[in-house]
Amino acid sequence: MKLPAGVSSADFASAIAEFERAVGKAWVFTSDEDVDLYRDAFSPFLHEPEELVASAALAPATTEEVQQIVRIANRFSIPLYPISTGKNLGYGGSAPAYSGSVVVDLKRMNRVIEVNEANAFALVEPGVSYFDLYRHIQERKLKVWIDCPDPGWGSVIGNALDRGGGYTTASYRNHFDSHCGMEIVLPNGELLRTGMGAIPNAKTWQQYKSGCGPWIDGIFSQSNFGIVTKMGFWLMPEPEAYLRGTVSLTRYGDLSAMVETLNYLENARITTGFPDIASPLNGYPPIGQVQLWNETGPPPMTEEHRKLLSSAKLGYSPELEAYGLKSGIPYWQLWLSFHGPAEVIEAQWQATQRHFAKFEHVKFSVVDRVKLPIDPSRAASYHEPELGVPSLRAFSIGARSPWNPTPSKGHMWFSPIVPRTGEAIIEANRVFSEAARELDMPLFRSFCMPACFWERSFIFILATPVAEDPAINKRYREGFKKLIAIGGQQGWGEYRTAPVFQKSVMDVYSFNDHVLQRFHETLKDAIDPNGILSPGRYAIWPRHLREKQS
Ligand SMILES: Cc1cc2nc3c(=O)[nH]c(=O)nc-3n(C[C@H](O)[C@H](O)[C@H](O)COP(=O)(O)OP(=O)(O)OC[C@H]3O[C@@H](n4cnc5c(N)ncnc54)[C@H](O)[C@@H]3O)c2cc1C
Repeated sequence: MKLPAGVSSADFASAIAEFERAVGKAWVFTSDEDVDLYRDAFSPFLHEPEELVASAALAPATTEEVQQIVRIANRFSIPLYPISTGKNLGYGGSAPAYSGSVVVDLKRMNRVIEVNEANAFALVEPGVSYFDLYRHIQERKLKVWIDCPDPGWGSVIGNALDRGGGYTTASYRNHFDSHCGMEIVLPNGELLRTGMGAIPNAKTWQQYKSGCGPWIDGIFSQSNFGIVTKMGFWLMPEPEAYLRGTVSLTRYGDLSAMVETLNYLENARITTGFPDIASPLNGYPPIGQVQLWNETGPPPMTEEHRKLLSSAKLGYSPELEAYGLKSGIPYWQLWLSFHGPAEVIEAQWQATQRHFAKFEHVKFSVVDRVKLPIDPSRAASYHEPELGVPSLRAFSIGARSPWNPTPSKGHMWFSPIVPRTGEAIIEANRVFSEAARELDMPLFRSFCMPACFWERSFIFILATPVAEDPAINKRYREGFKKLIAIGGQQGWGEYRTAPVFQKSVMDVYSFNDHVLQRFHETLKDAIDPNGILSPGRYAIWPRHLREKQS
């Protein structure tokens, strides 16, 4: 067992005995076999002593038990690491940011406290997964949709706290933004409610976000200032119909104007679903087709096309463009989706086509016109999350197949935010492909397209593989940190990352001599003077560990 540094075995044993009294012996896990379940299955330290590991785990069933755990941890200086469902694969899994921490596993706190159809919101506990909430809604035939990330087994709260994203309409895709009201156990064991929840007997906790006075909800995301025990989320009223269409363009030079047109249409709420950008000519799929490509293989490509791609620079050569025109393969393809009453979304699609009509050779095509709700048995023919249906099919990314005969042992997501312009797509490809080549990393080698999870910015989401060989993993880890720094020099930053890289990422957010990081530390010292909650998460270290880490 890896004890937390500076805690004697006698003190640790006393703390464990007290934890057992608080949550029941059956819910305190100390055997290697049990604690191993909290290792990060995608750890880039596979088979290495530096892997971040827990000392023990606890599974409380109530908020009161969480409060008791926190009070005990303060008495014995035990670092805690709360997780909701602990499925944060690619961003750290369920392993703590500081080895030896005791994981507080909130899976047993899995009550859907309320789903309000009339006002379209839910109030849930941390152990509620997307599958749980979806099932709860379906069983009661409620006319509301959830917005889920690709893996449906994650926690609605855990994903939002790590600022994850999903696939329906812009108002719901940003999971932290779509929350309304939180309940938090503070590091001293006190219970806090934010927004209107601060009013005893509040009547609008899930209906008005900010309450009065400073709005503090944001400081409990990607941080270590409290354990969230309840959170409200706005849900989307079930749409009547769904339309998905593609806009195909033929010229490399169309990229910038295509992005500008998309931005206008999205910011004006003319297209509201997840905009998905592909480059068929560069062999780059829309995100919504990735699981299908993983399952059945990418579309066939001629030898001539393959050759032209290998000699293209930043996704371009005049010959490649001519080949696309001759063969009818679009350079760029936007997949746009619309949810709402049929007459409204038809009009939105018409307006979309009118705005894109200025492009020479533009082609429009309707992929789907669906009356909702669809029969659940048909959901599998779609990228389910775009219809608010949770799934686990995204894990086909790591499946062995004829087109992926040697899958990796997992991956680390490299996910920088860049401006929403065509120029930024090309510049990010230039900067990161040059760097990846120099660092000998299998990332950003061919031309990559960004994703539109967030409004007003692009995000690239690329998987750096984890290998069996520690020497390769070391090269990738060091390369990953260099890519973060190179992105930072361009003014770009990661939106989220695994604990192993959190310091490197936060080092990029360095305006005015790292005042942001110093502000986080000031808060940490005030809120959690004993430094018991998730030390090191997003590079926020408590005072007693700060110097050792820098
Ligand atoms: C193939 C694949 C596809 C993916 N697709 C997506 C995607 O589309 N969108 C997306 O967002 N992510 C995606 N992910 C990343 C990840 O799997 C999900 O974000 C997942 O939902 C996160 O795990 P979780 O919900 O169990 O959160 P948890 O692991 O429970 O929580 C994440 C972190 O938040 C903190 N935390 C959690 N709960 C609490 C709490 N109650 N109080 C205080 N702190 C807390 C902890 O530090 C924890 O480590 C993908 C991963 C893979 C491998």
